[in-house]
Amino acid sequence: MAVLPIVIAPLPVLSARAREIQPHEFGPELATLASDMAETMYAAPGVGLAAPQVNDGRRLIVIDSSSGDERGTRLFRMANPSITARGDETIEWQETCLSVPEIEVWVTRAKHITVNWQDPATGEAMTEDFEEYEAVIVQHELDHLEGTVLLDRVSSFKRGRWVRKMKKVRQAIPAK
Ligand code: ZN
Repeated sequence: MAVLPIVIAPLPVLSARAREIQPHEFGPELATLASDMAETMYAAPGVGLAAPQVNDGRRLIVIDSSSGDERGTRLFRMANPSITARGDETIEWQETCLSVPEIEVWVTRAKHITVNWQDPATGEAMTEDFEEYEAVIVQHELDHLEGTVLLDRVSSFKRGRWVRKMKKVRQAIPAK
């Protein structure tokens, strides 16, 4: 397992629609990528990560809402995830993103969702209901697969200010 570098917006891989994982891609290699993504998420630390955030343009996400002693108990690795049902109730959450550091955005999401996905190792079809915080996380990661990041949800003024600030931060890191 390995901790992968997380890419920062704005970047083409983060704004493109991720592609469907094909049947021949399921197996140990995809399972390793999912495990590496989970390790990267735990190291950050974060509660979710989408493949485009580690510069891989495929429909693969990991989430884990658990914390403290229970960390690791709510890990889901999802290939080709999709929401098949959503309740009418909504929930507002102040979201953050590892690819958009230092920005917090209130987002309205469905409170209850049903998600279908495939197991990265076997391709087996899975389904589960998620609610509240976990539903928020899944919907945030699914946004990544559609090429949407939190930066797209803020005003152009705030976005411009953030991009300039990040440029300065990057320039301050000495080139190797
Ligand atoms: Zn994110």
